Amino acid sequence: MTVSEIRTELERLKTSPEGVALMYIAGEWTAASDGGTRDLIDPGTGETIGRVAEATTADALRAIAAARAAFDGGPWSQTHAHDRAKLLFRIADALEANADEFARIETLNAGKPLRETEADVADAANCFRYYAGLATKPHGESFDVPAPSQTFTVREPIGVCGQIVPWNYPLLMAAWKLAPALAAGNVCILKPSELTPLTALRLAQLFDEAGLPHGVLSVVTGAGPVAGAALAESHDVDKIAFTGGTSTGRTIMQAATGNLKKISLELGGKSPNIVFADADFETAVDYALLAIYAGCGQVCSAGSRLILDSAIDDRFIARLVERAQTIVVGNGFDRATEMGPLISAQHLEKVERYIALGRSEGAKLVCGGGRPAGAADRGYYLAPTIFTDTTPQMRIVREEIFGPVLVVQRFATEAEAIALANDTPYGLAGAVFTQDAARAHRVVRALRAGITWINTYHPTYNEAPWGGYKQSGIGRELGTYGFDEYTEVKQINVNLAIEPSGWFAG
Ligand code: NDP
Repeated sequence: MTVSEIRTELERLKTSPEGVALMYIAGEWTAASDGGTRDLIDPGTGETIGRVAEATTADALRAIAAARAAFDGGPWSQTHAHDRAKLLFRIADALEANADEFARIETLNAGKPLRETEADVADAANCFRYYAGLATKPHGESFDVPAPSQTFTVREPIGVCGQIVPWNYPLLMAAWKLAPALAAGNVCILKPSELTPLTALRLAQLFDEAGLPHGVLSVVTGAGPVAGAALAESHDVDKIAFTGGTSTGRTIMQAATGNLKKISLELGGKSPNIVFADADFETAVDYALLAIYAGCGQVCSAGSRLILDSAIDDRFIARLVERAQTIVVGNGFDRATEMGPLISAQHLEKVERYIALGRSEGAKLVCGGGRPAGAADRGYYLAPTIFTDTTPQMRIVREEIFGPVLVVQRFATEAEAIALANDTPYGLAGAVFTQDAARAHRVVRALRAGITWINTYHPTYNEAPWGGYKQSGIGRELGTYGFDEYTEVKQINVNLAIEPSGWFAG
């Protein structure tokens, strides 16, 4: 497929006469209030692929006002769950019907290999389907209280939700946020990453065509400190849901204090992948690669620290390096590609700075460290990289690099493995590889992390909760937990003995 053929995919987006992709605010396709635009870059080639409207604060405020009106006066929050479910099922079907197009747009805009973006589109469709199903399931409880009272709860939508998502899974993160929020009857303003807005805009078209009432969804494309900050600060926004870096999460949390918004944060990680000597050797090597190099390491739950049993360390590292060197790094549109580029020139420079730092800190570079052999001249490619001989104090061991850089930490005892694994301010994910079932359970229970795996890494299910301990976040997405995060719980008491209380004598 040629680049011009791929670009024809973009022609389905709503654009201005000048070819600028428009935002979706209150059911209208609109340019920025000041006419501002931003160039979008293909990470695989470094070429400009198009332009998108760059929201101003005024644009974000317009979306918020429309959302407020839609929630307070509109029918969406009062619709029957059955009708909301029907609409979300239609979105799932429409995503599947347009799956190839969505995958290609995502690959063009985010650089991810087609096999990853195809999986993302399928996961997004299933996420909408899961929450469509959940919308109509029972959500309240009744309580046996010591009084003549029928006491029960109902779950109600929170209101206007600002949803800020990053560039590593642009469509999937939008689905994780929109599906539960809309299923519960909320209205949403989605702020995609400034780098990767295209699939979110295309998704808004599907919602428009499916008949979502205007104002219930807006997609505001613009910079985080402008459009994102407006959402986080506005007193007309009732909840902020954010996925991204921990320092941005902190900023958003502070901005949200004005009206004490509900917040859910899915932040970074430096997740441990523990391999014991008795693990199935080839399986553990294979998953160690998947843990760090899937998504080019730009995955919040990446297994970026390999905590390795010193009884097998030399043999394991030799095999790991051998296999890492065979990973095919290249353009996401090439079906042979196994690992794509980093998202931007700026991010590539950041990851390269970490590699230089690792060397200067005294870690031993045993694989990669630079551009992969044979990579295209342009595009933001980096070879799979591995550091050994690390210490727990090194910054490459402590900080989230968010690239294809694995650090190896060795241990001698189970207790040492657990201590190393938990020696981090993060707590998103972690895994253990061993054939000793009791040890597997012991170690996983000892991990201070929200998502854990035994003898596997990375599988993620719409049905199960996703989120972090410690500085990896607040709240949970997915599953029934993700639905609950978009609801308020109301207690209702019905007096079953209608007579005066007798509290006051007179
Ligand atoms: P950010 O956390 O900055 O971006 C995530 C989203 O937040 C984007 O939509 C961004 O907008 C928006 N945003 C940025 N600043 C603000 C703000 N002040 N108020 C409201 N919204 C804001 O991630 P980066 O893209 O800059 O990546 C930085 C690091 O974050 C990465 O190197 C990685 O370590 C981590 N990260 C973690 C992710 C995860 O899944 N846990 C995902 C992405 C990044 P805009 O795109 O316009 O900046």
